[in-house]
Amino acid sequence: MAVDYKLYDESRLADVARLNLDLAAEHLDLEEGLRDILRSGQREFIVHFPVEMDDGRLKMFTGYRVQHSLYRGPAKGGLRYYPTLDLEDVRALAALMTWKCAVMNLPFGGAKGGVQCDTKQLSQEELERLTRRLTWEIAPIIGPNADIPAPDLYTDAQTMAWIMDTYSMFKGYTVPGVVTGKPVELGGSLGRDTATAQGCVYAIREAIEVLGMQEGAHTVAVQGFGKVGYHVARLAQKCLGLKVVAISDTGGGVYNRSGLDLELVLGHKLETGSVTGTPGTDRITNEELLELPVEVLVPAAIENQIRADNAERINARIVAEAANAPTTATAGKILDERDIFVIPDILANGGGVTVSYFEWVQNTQKLFWSEDDINRRLDSIMTRAFHEVLQTARQNKARLRIGAYILGVQRVARAKQLRGIFP
Ligand code: NAD
Repeated sequence: MAVDYKLYDESRLADVARLNLDLAAEHLDLEEGLRDILRSGQREFIVHFPVEMDDGRLKMFTGYRVQHSLYRGPAKGGLRYYPTLDLEDVRALAALMTWKCAVMNLPFGGAKGGVQCDTKQLSQEELERLTRRLTWEIAPIIGPNADIPAPDLYTDAQTMAWIMDTYSMFKGYTVPGVVTGKPVELGGSLGRDTATAQGCVYAIREAIEVLGMQEGAHTVAVQGFGKVGYHVARLAQKCLGLKVVAISDTGGGVYNRSGLDLELVLGHKLETGSVTGTPGTDRITNEELLELPVEVLVPAAIENQIRADNAERINARIVAEAANAPTTATAGKILDERDIFVIPDILANGGGVTVSYFEWVQNTQKLFWSEDDINRRLDSIMTRAFHEVLQTARQNKARLRIGAYILGVQRVARAKQLRGIFP
């Protein structure tokens, strides 16, 4: 039976994830029982814990860790600190990690977690206490062979260092492989901080080639100026010679049709807290940024940015989804009808988890690779995944997102079928 889009509420991440799975399952002709297994996820852990604030007050926080699947290996996925984070979003993001790891063909299942909090309201000391207590709470279910967290929205290498230290205290010996995205001094991998962006840039390079767009000076607009957005902009300029004309953060965006000086924008952001007001740029809104006439648009902030109400006004030739779930399913359909080439999130931002995998392998082997080695291996995995997704999409007469889901879901379903049902 054809999937009916009207049965899904696309403003909910959980429904978007379920819809994409159902669309892929339709092509794969998966039996209903197996579909249910893949929809459901395996484990959900909710913790409520107090943190002492700097003024001595106690404040309660809620944290989550969802392991969507462990069929292909330990669960892998980020930890997000975000004011509106809830279980439903974490569930959907954990499922996305399952499909992403499978698309990249990494020996991992999928997980996601985080804490509902606004990091802008917390001091560094409060963040450390919150992170250490969260780690203690979820320690029974994480570990290098069980579930390996990594940075995500508003968490970073320092957060991972606190988690690694707390977990190691808990165990009584140092366990670097419990997290990835650590500082290099603690066993982090070279290239991890730029991996998501670098992988996305490799995918954009392949798309440009597939579309025969090698000639000409191409422009790029990037929504988001965090760990991913800044490096995508920098590397698109450096590696592909593209001209970055717009970039944004929560405060709004900046535009210069002749191209932005990214170091100037970064300096301004560090000084004032926002990219807006950088000398020599025009101010634009996040909505206007998405609708700019550019060759490449990179949403690199949060989910639900390209929706049915603005998809008709997207003016890019390529949309590279560096963020997770920035496009709703209906919007994706509209972009497809308008012949816009969308590199879906579970492929476009798969570079992050791929280098996380490299970090985990290096931690396990106690042997470290050079940055050149990392980037060469990343390029090879990204390029292979890109063409496998493209080929799967073409074989199924589907768009790239559905191609990616078909590939990922098929690999996970096969693993589950081979392992069988216990008992
Ligand atoms: P980050 O916290 O470093 O940066 C987020 C950026 O988005 C900031 O510049 C912030 O100002 C901006 N932003 C937040 N809310 C916004 C809004 N409403 N409108 C416009 N801009 C907004 O996070 P990040 O690690 O760069 O992650 C960005 C996206 O990439 C997320 O969707 C994340 O899940 C995804 N992602 C990250 C990684 C990684 O390695 N960090 C890997 C895969 C996917």
